[in-house]
Amino acid sequence: MTTQQRRTKILATLGPATDPPGMLDQLLKAGVDVVRLNFSHGDPSSQLARAEAVRAAAKRVGTEVGILADLPGPKIRIERFAEGRVELKTGDAFDLVASEDAPMGNAREVGVSYLDLPGDVAPGDTLLLDDGLMQLRVERVEGARIHCIVLNDGVLSDRKGLNKLGGGLSLGALTERDRELIKVAAEANVDFIAVSFCRNAADMDEARRVAREAGCDAAMVAKVERAEAIANLTEIVDASDVVMVARGDLGVEIGDAELPGLQKKIIKESLARNKVVITATQMLQSMVESPIPTRAEVLDVANAVIDGTDAVMLSAESAAGRYPVKAVEAMVRICLGAERQFAHDTDFEAAPRNLQRVDQAIAMAAMFLTEHIGLRAIVAMTESGGTARFLSRFRSGAPIYAFSRHAGARRRMAMMRDVFPIDYDSRGQTPGEAGRGSIARLVQAGLLEPGERVAFTSGERMEHRGATNTLRLLQVGPDGEAEGLGEL
Ligand code: ATP
Ligand code: MG
Ligand code: MG
Repeated sequence: MTTQQRRTKILATLGPATDPPGMLDQLLKAGVDVVRLNFSHGDPSSQLARAEAVRAAAKRVGTEVGILADLPGPKIRIERFAEGRVELKTGDAFDLVASEDAPMGNAREVGVSYLDLPGDVAPGDTLLLDDGLMQLRVERVEGARIHCIVLNDGVLSDRKGLNKLGGGLSLGALTERDRELIKVAAEANVDFIAVSFCRNAADMDEARRVAREAGCDAAMVAKVERAEAIANLTEIVDASDVVMVARGDLGVEIGDAELPGLQKKIIKESLARNKVVITATQMLQSMVESPIPTRAEVLDVANAVIDGTDAVMLSAESAAGRYPVKAVEAMVRICLGAERQFAHDTDFEAAPRNLQRVDQAIAMAAMFLTEHIGLRAIVAMTESGGTARFLSRFRSGAPIYAFSRHAGARRRMAMMRDVFPIDYDSRGQTPGEAGRGSIARLVQAGLLEPGERVAFTSGERMEHRGATNTLRLLQVGPDGEAEGLGEL
């Protein structure tokens, strides 16, 4: 095979910049695996329209794309500006007005809908807006009006998040609005639901319960972005399907210097506990305005890949930037480069010793063999995607071809590094037939060649969730037919 397959998955936030006709097709062709709809921005109906547009585009392009709904959570935001944005200069006086009837913002003031804000801040506090890109110092509080001084030159635009340096402004986790939006997301049949500012396992359990009650089997994503979540990391990882290193708010709460260490820790913990992990925020931030990333951004994306992340995410770069397609192309290029240079990092040391499931045991055995006898690929028959998840927790460098008849499972697997989901119905087939059938498909697609050896995992009865209990070693014969491997 000549072309290098990309292993790391790409998540792109949709927004005004991705709405023009033809744009979604271009983004999907460029390599987006999962799209993110941020329910903090735009009304729910515009986000639902985007979900529909994505499905239509995926059909046209002939791919399967996961859809992630990101809940607003208790994040405090400024309101809107008359002109959409203002430029602020160091030393300017700028007021936050916590009132229902604050006027549209301008270069001197802007509204905040969180009415208790004046009671939560004190003179001398540093307020960070837009993931820390704009900083204000509180001078004095006068009724609903918080008088501030601008600490850095910059631009501030509509509905940017606001927090206090060191945290302490974020409230409970699942708001009433979040509960309503989970139902909206359920109706839209999204594949992932992200819980903003979760504090502990109970927050994740509660979100999952609301989703399941609404008939939604989406994977639940924990956004780790507050100090409390770091303190409760293990239980949060265990209560989630996917973990997001949400570096914007996390950096505000705990200080940016802590981020590199925490990113590594969260990724490691997620992989060790068999969970999928996303690295997010400002990965290619300069591409909001520029067609080319900075060297520092290139290194950042590559380092996340080397850290072992499953997916890297675009935020404003795709949602509101000038170069959404170029941003996706840059991520593709950087991921491929990092994967080429750091192809192989199977860490059995970090692997769990207390195996709890048969499919997990089979997956670990498959990865051990891939590592030690050099297999070309792993072919997995999977119903729910569970086997693929266990397989993909090891960064072996071998592709995992995950055959499932469930579109929802395939879209959830679109987030997993190394996993290539393929539509295949193995009902009624014996493991032998499924092995020959799936491998014939891979040979036809040019993904396997005669002589290559693979691990094949399946259940004895194909149509049962979590029933993977069989590992076979197969080899592609001279005529492209799968045969049992005779010798090592
Ligand atoms: P979060 O903490 O949830 O990430 P955020 O404000 O950082 O909130 P992102 O989704 O990361 O939001 O997007 C970055 C920026 O892109 C937003 O601040 C906003 O300016 C813009 N944006 C994103 N989605 C939309 C949208 N649907 N409509 C308008 N602007 C959007
Ligand atoms: Mg956030
Ligand atoms: Mg963000």
